[in-house]
Amino acid sequence: MYRLVILFTVTATCALIASCASPQPKPSVSLSLVRATGDTIVIQNVSVFDSEALTVSPNMDVLIQRDRIVAVLPTGDLQSTAGTKVISGEGATLVPGLIDMHGHISTTTGPTWEFGTPDPEAILRSYVYSGVTTVFDPADASDEAFERRDQVARGEIIGPRIYTTGKMLTCSDGHPRSLVSALVPAWIAWYIEPQVATAIDTEDEAISEVDALADAGADAIKIAIDRIPLDSERMTVTVATAVATHARTRGLRTVAHIGTTQDAIDAAEAGVALWVHGVYKERIPEESLAKLARYGIPMVTTSEVFDRYARALEPIVPTKLERETVSQAVLDSFYPTPDDFDLGALQGWLDLAVDTVDVRTDNVRRVHEAGITVLAGSDVQSGVFPGPSLHRELANLVKAGFTPAEAIRAATLDPARFLADNGALETGKIAAGLRADLLLVEGDPTQDIGALANIREVVLNGNVVERTPVSNAP
Ligand SMILES: [Zn+2]
Repeated sequence: MYRLVILFTVTATCALIASCASPQPKPSVSLSLVRATGDTIVIQNVSVFDSEALTVSPNMDVLIQRDRIVAVLPTGDLQSTAGTKVISGEGATLVPGLIDMHGHISTTTGPTWEFGTPDPEAILRSYVYSGVTTVFDPADASDEAFERRDQVARGEIIGPRIYTTGKMLTCSDGHPRSLVSALVPAWIAWYIEPQVATAIDTEDEAISEVDALADAGADAIKIAIDRIPLDSERMTVTVATAVATHARTRGLRTVAHIGTTQDAIDAAEAGVALWVHGVYKERIPEESLAKLARYGIPMVTTSEVFDRYARALEPIVPTKLERETVSQAVLDSFYPTPDDFDLGALQGWLDLAVDTVDVRTDNVRRVHEAGITVLAGSDVQSGVFPGPSLHRELANLVKAGFTPAEAIRAATLDPARFLADNGALETGKIAAGLRADLLLVEGDPTQDIGALANIREVVLNGNVVERTPVSNAP
């Protein structure tokens, strides 16, 4: 038995590096897709959420054929066809399938002190179980990242539609490589560092690594502009600019991990198209807020992941979806912390996460008010579970002053627009012609965001998903 693991990959990538033991897979949810006979489904007499107008229209019928929404009409206006599968929408609201703009597919979610191996297919199922039908993964360090995305697209694996950057780019001792060098003995760190992120320190290296990712099929390029631990190195604006500029010549946009206001400004000046975190290390100065807004770049504020790190030493109080998708044994394994557990070089960073809880909520409220488009993203990591964590994130947005309808838009229409990149909208709205990725929930989530977790049906690509929660049977 011999295992080598990185304990912590804060706001980063996969945890596992090598394992000669074959780990027991953790219990996970199971799903099956049901294709309606005749490929036609009607969701009848349902309240339909309009993600553009932020209104709910009651008593509607939504007709789905194959993988597309073909009509949205008042109940009674549709001609019924023999063989159509009818789903009752009574007492329920239909929203577009959710989009997580900071998901991770090849990562682990157990306690930081435990060994773990990523189970990407279980992660994909957990997303779908929770109503997440599209995921943007800004950092999948596994060799299978692009192939897995394509397998999902071809229907060979059940999962949300994936957009992925593949492995992220950073400077030699930048996040997350800096975490490895801080936490892992040097004799093995040299081996692990290139597996979590590719180092680029010059413009030439930036160009050749962007080319490599573009050739491999990346949907975007991810760079890290942050210091974790707090005294580590950070990518320069010159190198970041070389990345974003060259990526554009390859038809790709660049997205950036950031920490401070200055990181956000430097990323924007370099030409990135998206901040995949909010400013989490400090209160955004008033004068910088308007400046950030002028860049016209959306921000994925990822409150939940930092809040979870702030609560890292506390037990997890599971939400309904966490109880349904995460085994009790895993939930219990977060507490108590082992006596000999030492955060080492990360202690300062964790202390900062604790100190900035209110500042971060306030930053989200202020960037929203300043007119920056906030996209919902959860950043799956230790204790931040794929699917349920997006629901937590939406509750955080409401806590930061979003109306529930605005929060849902941040996980539907707005990210769909970003992903469409000025092309035709594929999803994010309930309208004829769009992909039939839908979430039917009890009650009205525009009144209570928590209603989004009371899922009656998930429709993925025109398939009704049969969802079986995790089994906690011994
Ligand atoms: Zn991340």
